[in-house]
Amino acid sequence: MTAGERVAIVGAGVAGLTTAVVLAEAGVSVHVVAEQVPGVTSLAAGAMWGPYLVEPKDKVDQWGQRSLEVFRELTADPATGVRLTSGIEASRTAEAPPDWATALPGFRACELAELPTGFASGYRFTVPLIDMPVYLGYLLRRLDAARGTIERRRLGSLADAGPASVIVNCAGLGAQGLVPDSGLRPIRGQHVVVTNPGLTEFFSEDTGLSPDLLCFYPHGDSVVLGGTAIDGEGDLTANDKVAANILARCAEVEPRLVDARVLEHRIGARPTRSAVRVEAECREDATVVVHNYGHGGAGVTLSWGCAEEAANLVAAANR
Ligand SMILES: Cc1cc2nc3c(=O)[nH]c(=O)nc-3n(C[C@H](O)[C@H](O)[C@H](O)COP(=O)(O)OP(=O)(O)OC[C@H]3O[C@@H](n4cnc5c(N)ncnc54)[C@H](O)[C@@H]3O)c2cc1C
Repeated sequence: MTAGERVAIVGAGVAGLTTAVVLAEAGVSVHVVAEQVPGVTSLAAGAMWGPYLVEPKDKVDQWGQRSLEVFRELTADPATGVRLTSGIEASRTAEAPPDWATALPGFRACELAELPTGFASGYRFTVPLIDMPVYLGYLLRRLDAARGTIERRRLGSLADAGPASVIVNCAGLGAQGLVPDSGLRPIRGQHVVVTNPGLTEFFSEDTGLSPDLLCFYPHGDSVVLGGTAIDGEGDLTANDKVAANILARCAEVEPRLVDARVLEHRIGARPTRSAVRVEAECREDATVVVHNYGHGGAGVTLSWGCAEEAANLVAAANR
C-alpha cells in the first residue's frame, strides 16, 4: 500500500474506529464516513473483555487474545478508559468456568462464602473493563493524531463512501441494508448507568442464553448495570420497566446499589450473525470491499484482532 491511496471506512463504532486507527497509523490515508460518531451500539457496551453471543470459536479466540494484549497495554494510560479490574462471574447452578476465563490473571474458583445468596459456583479473575464513552473518545483522538478524517453522513450504499481504493465495511447492524446481509440480526441490550456507591469490582452472572442478564461494571464515579439480550429486537428506546428490573436484579446482589442515582440509559442492538465477517469481497464494479462486522456481543473484545486482520486484507487488495 502506498501512503497516497485513500481507504474509506464506513462506520465509527468500535470496529470502524479501531480499523481506522490501525490503517492510519500504518501510513494509510483513511477517511471514515458514518451517520453516528461514535456508534451508539459501541457506546452502549459495558464493556468487559470476554466473548458473548459470537462465533466462530477458533477465530474468536484468536481475535480476542490479540485484543486482550492491546487492552492490557492501554491500561498504562488512564485517558484510554481501559482498566484492569478484578471481579466475579457466578452462576446459580454448579458450572465449570468458561475456558476464556481460566487463563486470565488471578483466576481462581470462589469459596461459597464469597458469593451472593442463591449462587452455587463462581470464579474470580482480573480482566480489562472499558469505559466506552471515554475509550471511543480516545480512539477518535488517536485517529485524528494519525491524520485520519471523519465525515458524518448516512450512506445509501457502500459505494457512496468513495472515491477510495478500498472500502472497509464496519457498519455494524447497518450492514443489513448496505451489503445487503439478511443473516445479520439485532440482539437488543439495555444498560442503566448509576452513580457509584463505592464499587471497585465487577460482577457478572452466567445467565446462559437468558434474555435477562445481571452484571455491573464500575467505571470510577459511575457504574454500568446490565442488562438484557432480546433476540430479534432493534428498538433503541429506553424501557422504564426493563430499567427498573435491571436495577432490582443488581441491587439484590449488591445492596449498595439500592440508593444509586440513575444517570443515563444506554441501549444498543448487538449486530449478530452466524459468524463474524472479516473478509474481502471484489464487487461486480471491481470495487474491493473489506468487511468487518457482525461481532454480536463481543465487538469490543474482538476489536483489535479483527481490525488488524481487516487492515491486512486492505493491504493485500492494494498490492
Ligand atoms: C448492551 C450491550 C452491552 C455490550 N457489552 C459488551 C461487552 O461487555 N463487551 C464486548 O466486547 N461487547 C459488548 N457489546 C457488543 C458491542 O457493543 C458490539 O459488538 C460493537 O459495539 C459493535 O461495534 P460496531 O462498530 O460493529 O457497530 P456500531 O457501534 O453500531 O457502529 C456502526 C457504525 O456504522 C455506522 N453506519 C451504519 N449504517 C450506516 C449508513 N447507512 N450510513 C452511514 N453510517 C452507517 C453507524 O452510524 C455507526 O457509526 C455490547 C452491546 C450491547 C448492546
